Amino acid sequence: SIKDTYTLSNGVEIPVMGLGVYKNTDQEELKGAIETALQAGYRHIDTAAVYNNEAGVGRAVKESGILREELFITTKVWNTDQGYEETLAAFERSLEALGLEYVDLYLVHWPMPGTYTDTYRALETLYDSGKVRAIGVSNFHEHHLETLFKECRIKPVLNQVEYHPHLPQKALKEFCGRHDILLEAWAPLKRGGLFDHPVIVGAAEKYGKSPAQIILRWDIQNGVSTIPKSVTPERIKENADIFDFELTNEEMQQMDTLENGERMGKNPDEVT
Ligand code: NAD
Repeated sequence: SIKDTYTLSNGVEIPVMGLGVYKNTDQEELKGAIETALQAGYRHIDTAAVYNNEAGVGRAVKESGILREELFITTKVWNTDQGYEETLAAFERSLEALGLEYVDLYLVHWPMPGTYTDTYRALETLYDSGKVRAIGVSNFHEHHLETLFKECRIKPVLNQVEYHPHLPQKALKEFCGRHDILLEAWAPLKRGGLFDHPVIVGAAEKYGKSPAQIILRWDIQNGVSTIPKSVTPERIKENADIFDFELTNEEMQQMDTLENGERMGKNPDEVT
């Protein structure tokens, strides 16, 4: 079900699917999306300081009346706040905006050249302090992770990267698997860019599901955590309704043939 979890390497449980809230700055729309999601059983929300909606996320979860310990809230430190002291300060601002006493997962949003290891050291400090239940990264290639392994104490539990059938991140996924780092998919739906592909349409027709549901089911069967975004109540519910069917091995393999390396976002090596 939507409440199924993966166990992170430090023992913390993360719901397999979360609600993405990127670009969601309209207060009413955000409140409605979170309300709908929580009613549909979502317990995991993915925000970031740069999304400029942490306060709205905090208010919406508080108003839901759902116990804090049942929720899994992720936020991220933005590129312009990277560095050790800067990150500690940015975290306090995020916590204040969210109106929470702790966050479940705090991520380095992008591997900023020159500062990401210091940023990550601040995350270790926050983890030690108990203000975050787990720490991880986003948009890290293998070589960025190798650097952290050499220079840091605590292994990241998760790497949130662009991931969809056009960009299945096979080498990175294998690498993360070996190091017990969960992969989490951003832009899992490629923002709508995969819905017409015949392999996806074919599976959708077979199971009486939508193309979005086929892609999200592929994430789950690949052992990837996924955070589709929608503000439309019907779609929020639809995206969570993927636990009553299973793609065959052959269909999973057919989906693998869609790889073409196309990205919606930047290559992490080009971030400055
Ligand atoms: P997405 O692939 O989740 O696509 C979202 C869009 O797809 C929606 O705006 C809507 O137009 C459409 N959609 C959603 N459900 C649908 C459905 N059932 N049927 C038809 N259309 C549907 O893209 P995203 O928002 O970029 O990514 C998801 C989340 O990942 C973000 O909200 C954010 O939380 C996170 N993210 C993280 C990073 C990062 O650098 N770490 C970058 C981008 C996004």
